Amino acid sequence: MTESWDLVVVGGGIHGVGVAQAAAAAGHRVLVLEKTALASGTSSRSSKLIHGGLRYLESYELSLVYECLHERELLLQVAPDLVELKRFHIPIYQYTRRRPWIVRVGLGLYAVLGGVGPDVRFGTVPRHDWSQLDGLVTDELEEVYFYFDAQTDDALLTRAVMKSAQSLGAELAVPARFLGCQLVEDGCVVRYEREGRQVECQARVLINAGGPWANEILQLVSPSQECLAVE
Ligand SMILES: Cc1cc2nc3c(=O)[nH]c(=O)nc-3n(C[C@H](O)[C@H](O)[C@H](O)COP(=O)(O)OP(=O)(O)OC[C@H]3O[C@@H](n4cnc5c(N)ncnc54)[C@H](O)[C@@H]3O)c2cc1C
Repeated sequence: MTESWDLVVVGGGIHGVGVAQAAAAAGHRVLVLEKTALASGTSSRSSKLIHGGLRYLESYELSLVYECLHERELLLQVAPDLVELKRFHIPIYQYTRRRPWIVRVGLGLYAVLGGVGPDVRFGTVPRHDWSQLDGLVTDELEEVYFYFDAQTDDALLTRAVMKSAQSLGAELAVPARFLGCQLVEDGCVVRYEREGRQVECQARVLINAGGPWANEILQLVSPSQECLAVE
């Protein structure tokens, strides 16, 4: 008999496993298809930062920064063994385009958007402590700011989220390559390859979490679907 799922998620990167976790927590039947290994794509090749998006302040994306800072806070609370706060330094030289006052305003805004608490501390490093900052070139150095962001092991985090999704009832098929899907009236018929065999299942919803392969995956959907650009 053909298996039937509420959601089939294509891609076992951080987005795919996150969707699987949320959907399983909401009581949906979820299958994740991953062609190589969990986090084998960009989710093990990132800069490993759980950041609030300080640089997005320059493009006035305040609500995005607010959301990222609060998600960071949440991850620090729920996964303290995987996400830890790190101190960052921003050196400002005489020739640096962003002047000290701009950086101070940016860090101040970052702190306000992050709410109160130790995670949003920022300030300047006193001149007599500059020599303790390993590798810092001090010629023409005007000011050094410090602030905090978080760091993780992205592959471990991805695997932990999948484990949590599985504990909520989600299933993982790996290696399992998505081959295509046919949209039907009440969902879709999904085809994938597992252990050299072609398997067919039904899903109410197909989630394309293919990261850099997202367009490739989209082209395997029949009838063909339009790609909506995300700004
Ligand atoms: C250089 C760099 C630095 C970054 N630094 C950061 C950072 O510091 N902090 C941060 O938050 N983000 C960072 N990012 C962004 C972050 O890495 C990505 O947003 C995130 O990893 C995307 O996850 P994903 O699940 O969408 O894609 P991926 O992790 O790429 O997952 C897609 C998965 O789909 C699978 N797949 C593809 N085709 C099929 C198929 N036909 N069948 C089954 N499975 C398939 C792949 O094997 C892969 O595992 C960085 C990105 C880059 C490139």
